[in-house]
Amino acid sequence: MFAGKTAHVTAVRRKNNEISFLEVPRTTKPWVQKLGKIPFIRGIVGLLDSSAKGSRHLNFSAEAYAEDEGGPVEEEKETLFGKIGMFLGVAVVGVLSFIFGKLIFTVVPAAVEQLLFSELFGGRILHNIIEGVLKIILLLAYIYIISLTPIIKRLFQYHGAEHKVISAYEAGVELTVENVQKFNTLHYRCGSSFLVMTVLIGVIVYSFFHYDGFWERILQRIALLPVVTMLAYEFLKLTNSLRDTPVLRFLGYPGLWLQYLTTKEPTDDQVEVSIASFNRVRELDSQLAPAPGQAAS
Ligand SMILES: [Zn+2]
Repeated sequence: MFAGKTAHVTAVRRKNNEISFLEVPRTTKPWVQKLGKIPFIRGIVGLLDSSAKGSRHLNFSAEAYAEDEGGPVEEEKETLFGKIGMFLGVAVVGVLSFIFGKLIFTVVPAAVEQLLFSELFGGRILHNIIEGVLKIILLLAYIYIISLTPIIKRLFQYHGAEHKVISAYEAGVELTVENVQKFNTLHYRCGSSFLVMTVLIGVIVYSFFHYDGFWERILQRIALLPVVTMLAYEFLKLTNSLRDTPVLRFLGYPGLWLQYLTTKEPTDDQVEVSIASFNRVRELDSQLAPAPGQAAS
């Protein structure tokens, strides 16, 4: 999926070898737009908005795939999750699972750290650092395990293909499969960097707050979740603007390292689909403004 100034576009390869597009216009509601301009608040708005959009686009790819495979599409809707999804809408399910995921990744490392290490030594900062390390281990293990499934592997290959297309475009070369494949699957400006950022920012933010015992720690982490999320978003924005500053560039490196897990080497066919999707975004944007906007997912 690529995000342009006017629309988000996802392309999928169909069984008959054609490429279908899902184009969702950027019709953000005025009050959402206003909130999205306020520093700190915009982090939360942006993340919820993109998890809603991401969910719609993923659902489109999954349905196109199922349709081509002779369609368990109808069957799928009969499952419990299918029913919940139909009732709430795909976008809402995306937002809810995002929040649920954030809760799990916040609560579990804090709980495990508290149970295993709280009696062993004092020093809140050290406990926070261990909590951060446990969170990183949980995150990496989770991403690694889901990347072993064929669906997520394909998703990560497309993620790699998207980064290659953006890099090729930014380098100013013609967007052919051969040219694009020469580029790296890592890209400095990537949404998945956000995950690493929240862990690092969390360790720092938690250091300012005192807690007594297990439940206070857990509740405090949940209460601080929006604060950590907002700060991580702002910090990511900062590192993106520093990417050309030699010494400060390294601030964005942890995010790049995570992409060794969240991107995989794409096939030529996947690169072709990504180029088509990117070109479609530029086409839609050029109808509105002369300069194409682009963002890595
Ligand atoms: Zn990315």
